[in-house]
Amino acid sequence: MALPIVEDNALDAELTVRQVHAEDALEHSALCGRRSADQAEQPMDTASGAAEHLLARRSVLDDTLRQAPSGRATLMLRSPPTPAALLLIEAKQTRDRFMGLLRMANLETDAPESAGDALELLATRVHALLFTDNLELIRNARQLLSGAATHIVFVGSPGELPESEALRAGANDCMPSDARGEHFWAHLTIARRIADLAASLQMALKDNCILSTVDELTRAGRRGFFEEHFPREVERAVRLRKPLALVMCDIDHFKRVNDCHGHQAGDQVLKQFTARISTSLRLGKDWVARLGGEEFAVVFPDTSPAEACIVANRLRKRVRTATFDVLSKQISISASFGVCALDPVPRGLQGLAERMVGEADMALYESKHRGRDRVTARDICGDEQRTKFA
Ligand code: GH3
Ligand code: MG
Ligand code: MG
Repeated sequence: MALPIVEDNALDAELTVRQVHAEDALEHSALCGRRSADQAEQPMDTASGAAEHLLARRSVLDDTLRQAPSGRATLMLRSPPTPAALLLIEAKQTRDRFMGLLRMANLETDAPESAGDALELLATRVHALLFTDNLELIRNARQLLSGAATHIVFVGSPGELPESEALRAGANDCMPSDARGEHFWAHLTIARRIADLAASLQMALKDNCILSTVDELTRAGRRGFFEEHFPREVERAVRLRKPLALVMCDIDHFKRVNDCHGHQAGDQVLKQFTARISTSLRLGKDWVARLGGEEFAVVFPDTSPAEACIVANRLRKRVRTATFDVLSKQISISASFGVCALDPVPRGLQGLAERMVGEADMALYESKHRGRDRVTARDICGDEQRTKFA
């Protein structure tokens, strides 16, 4: 059953009663982007982990892009890092000669004293290439996580190379200890090619993993991240009998920004818009995802409907009151918001996450319909729904 619509002014009056408490709760945390005192006191499992997970992935993305050569703004254009080599050969003369050759090939090479030290090095850092005369080390290295030593070359006595045994132990290639000149470089070329391929593959896997979580343009979570983690937030709220708020927002007339200032300016606005929203959230607790184009979802755990309306309204004002400085132009934008918050989240309701998304979406649509640049809230309580405007 739909209850009568509460007009703006009436809700303003209603909100002011509860505002004092809500302002106190959120002023120092939600709007400062810092951990609040009560968060610091509570154990970490009070948060679902989604916000922390997103922060961790975002920081990996930022680190990775920082390492990318200048001018290369996306992950996919990076080249794999230069492979590091590990050398363990008992005969000093051979060891020194191989060390010289690997250095000439510009390979950073570790030369541990013993097989034990070599294994420790392999466990702590990926070595794309391992050159050794120690079959036991090869067997043990293959027990480590895959990728610890990508390409292993067994170095044996000339004329009596136990080739089959070395390959069975896990070596990729065999080389006589007296290999020099063309012979050595031929083996090294194969080794480097395989190491580069493996490194590119590892990078692509890591990039895919990050990019499937974090939107590269805005650093918000992706739709897939939202679809995976929002139902978990709902489950957590049900389990702990905590309130939960979902705020959907969509930039108003964004197409005009592109049309008047160009797509690049539109991208910058999207970036700055998300940054403005993100810095208004409680770090490690609230989180934002880009659902598509210029539409975002913000999740506020432990936040009541009244608090959610106040925070959404504050976000709206933050977007509206200061212009966006884009390509030396000052651009004014506004955004519309739709809130669905529950306190507490009821048990036993089927498809609650989808219903909250549906209600928040509907509330956002109502904000657009009523003229944009505003907040509308809808509740779910069994079959009962209420619409409020803030
Ligand atoms: P409304 O107030 O009804 O939301 O109007 P609107 O113009 O914001 O919405 P509409 O759906 O008509 O247009 C959204 C525009 O957003 C169209 C699309 O080209 C643009 N857009 C979507 N994704 C991106 C992006 O990543 N970068 C840029 N620059 N524009 C984008
Ligand atoms: Mg829009
Ligand atoms: Mg839109």
